[in-house]
Amino acid sequence: MGVLWLDDVRSDDLETVGGKAASLGELTAAGLPVPPGFVVTAGTYRTFIETAGIDDELFDAVDVDSEDSKALKAAHERAHALIMETPLPDEVAAEIVEAYRSIDDGEAFVAVRSSATAEDLPDASFAGQQETFLNVREADLIRRVKECWASLFSQRAIYYRNQKGFDHDAVDIAVVVQRMVDADKSGVMFTSHPSTGEPRIIIEAAWGLGEAVVSGAVSPDNYVVNRATQRTEDVTVADKKLMHVKDAETGETVERKVPDDRRTERVLSDEEIARLVDLGEQVETHYGQPQDVEWAVFDDEVYMLQSRPITTISDTAVSNVSDVGVGATDGDVAGEATDGAGETTRDQTAVGEVLLRGLGASPGIASGPARIVTKLDHLDQVAEGDIIVTEMTMPDMVPAMKRAAGIVTDEGGMTSHAAIVSRELGVPAVVGSSSATRQLEDGQPITIDGDKGTIREGVESKEKQRQPVEDARPKTPVKPMTATEVKVNVSIPEAAERAAATGADGVGLLRIEHMVLSLGKTPERFIADNGERAYVDEIIEGVRTVADEFYPRPVRARTLDAPSDEFRQLQGGEDVPREHNPMLGYRGIRRSLGNPRVFKLELEAFRRLYDMGYDNLEVMFPLVNDAEDVVRARKHMREAGIDPGKREWGVMIETPASALQVEAMAKAGIDFASFGTNDLTQYTLAVDRNNENVASVYDELHPAVLELIGSTIETCRDHGVETSICGQAGSKPRMVQFLVERGISSISANIDAVRDVQHEVKRVEQKLLLDSVR
Ligand code: PEP
Ligand code: MG
Repeated sequence: MGVLWLDDVRSDDLETVGGKAASLGELTAAGLPVPPGFVVTAGTYRTFIETAGIDDELFDAVDVDSEDSKALKAAHERAHALIMETPLPDEVAAEIVEAYRSIDDGEAFVAVRSSATAEDLPDASFAGQQETFLNVREADLIRRVKECWASLFSQRAIYYRNQKGFDHDAVDIAVVVQRMVDADKSGVMFTSHPSTGEPRIIIEAAWGLGEAVVSGAVSPDNYVVNRATQRTEDVTVADKKLMHVKDAETGETVERKVPDDRRTERVLSDEEIARLVDLGEQVETHYGQPQDVEWAVFDDEVYMLQSRPITTISDTAVSNVSDVGVGATDGDVAGEATDGAGETTRDQTAVGEVLLRGLGASPGIASGPARIVTKLDHLDQVAEGDIIVTEMTMPDMVPAMKRAAGIVTDEGGMTSHAAIVSRELGVPAVVGSSSATRQLEDGQPITIDGDKGTIREGVESKEKQRQPVEDARPKTPVKPMTATEVKVNVSIPEAAERAAATGADGVGLLRIEHMVLSLGKTPERFIADNGERAYVDEIIEGVRTVADEFYPRPVRARTLDAPSDEFRQLQGGEDVPREHNPMLGYRGIRRSLGNPRVFKLELEAFRRLYDMGYDNLEVMFPLVNDAEDVVRARKHMREAGIDPGKREWGVMIETPASALQVEAMAKAGIDFASFGTNDLTQYTLAVDRNNENVASVYDELHPAVLELIGSTIETCRDHGVETSICGQAGSKPRMVQFLVERGISSISANIDAVRDVQHEVKRVEQKLLLDSVR
């Protein structure tokens, strides 16, 4: 049987009809008012691809390296064409059309909604990946059903399954065909408090179709009903500027202004609230747990469009959400995220509640609509004031990050790309939330706190939104004079001005990889396409912006250090070997020495900068292990025309090997050694710095790390080699105290931390002086 009526579907039919249809069938069976409809079963899709003999070709076509964006696009196009161009057997099409004709008068507008069968897979939120079509009629019905099938092979869906290691063959798709509810008013209802689980029903309501509420385009009215007393305890009537309605002529969903006299009118009458509360209690009783329900009112009838368990209630807390750990709100969004008109689903809590937690990576509080960005999306969709929500940021996102009010990532730790760049741009950021891209919805208004690492529902008042710390500080305090120099780290040339304004004594680390990765191509591909000169010019341009800003203060530029997984995302990345563990792989000086052609061009750029008069430039080599690395790098420097005897140059201490071998490196002629504690910590403690699962074990102040640093400083002092720190830990007061006491020559901090580090250094230096005379 190709189709099943919703009346005949139950929740345990998930395999046959998918999660969404199973839930609608269950509600229908419970006697709740669900718009009538039927399901084209998952078996129909499976029989179609198998009988037509396109199944093998389909799964072969999508068996690609999904990091290769061209291959991914081609795979999607091939799969889509296979499904759309293969005719549906007449008898199957006839069965679907016949079912459609039984809805109302046979000419109803229907919603055609994908219902994937994969919701039961662990960690398998297929949120928003499959299509929904609204206001469909007979002429388009079969095409739309097939498009739902084909959406199982969208680029995003293929990419997602590959990432999660799901077999493409393991997911089937059913399609719900259901009468549209041309809603006069609609919204969502939480049958218990969405965060604490208290017996309070919360209803949000706005005019027209539900899309406007769910997408955050409109602030809805909010009603709180105490279930024990059945009294409405709180009513907040919002100014509802917009509504979504069906265009009478085209049948399309369009956005309209709410007429002035209805903007601040209360949406729900007491009677409607009572009806919704009654339905809400029935649903919760039926499922035996609190539900997040979508509803709509049409012609004075209340309809239920979707119901899902609330996944945000903390197990232990009744009114306390602070026990939620990093990324701990891991309830999956079962079913699609946004269906459109009146038929939308989401996870949401009441305004102000903590939805998710991560690591506070860049200070400040910001509010705005969440903008979910995947690697496949065009970044121009990020508007001024949006909050970017993404798995991990990439250098090509920097322009969008500048426009954003805040950044949220699923992955990464305090030293990830997102954390470093956000701090430099002064944009509040929360990283390592685990699941923000799946838990939050595009357009959902959120507030992030880059100190506490929280992501909350709703928009904070302008006064409470807080700028990055250094903007908030008084502008005039005198810079503390310290014997230990305090420098600043810069990764993106755009941050040079902000960095220089801190009054830092120079740049302790200028990472050139952001300049290189933002070219969008691997160095090899960029050189092949544009020539060597162009590559050299790009580096000169980036370094010069910073060197100009600081002249005559020293600027320590580091040769390229990016892991292979970052290169693989660029054009030409397919030629970069896929590595099992890129953090232990082909990066830093080993890549440069193994690929001298690119390394030489970087050194040539530095040499030309010296020729141009930038004598404040210093050269630093990353991820060296021993004197052999140093000698080889020095040879290249010479060959590029840089005299190591005349210029300041040195190495990063980022591996235990380099710390243990520093004496030999000192004898090889380095002028300075700078602690890259981001890496030194990960290699000493065996903790991947970008893996949020082990973030709690990552400790830059671990005695083993401190011992390596302490002994290195001592050896360097014996050999007249300057020492510095340019890892993130240099911004932490306890590390500053340790380093100053041990006699480090300089500390390089993040832009936002420079002023505090200056004060801390001064305090420790004064204490040391006092101690020596007491
Ligand atoms: C470090 O490892 O501490 C460092 C500053 O280098 P990066 O963060 O770029 O690896
Ligand atoms: Mg490093």
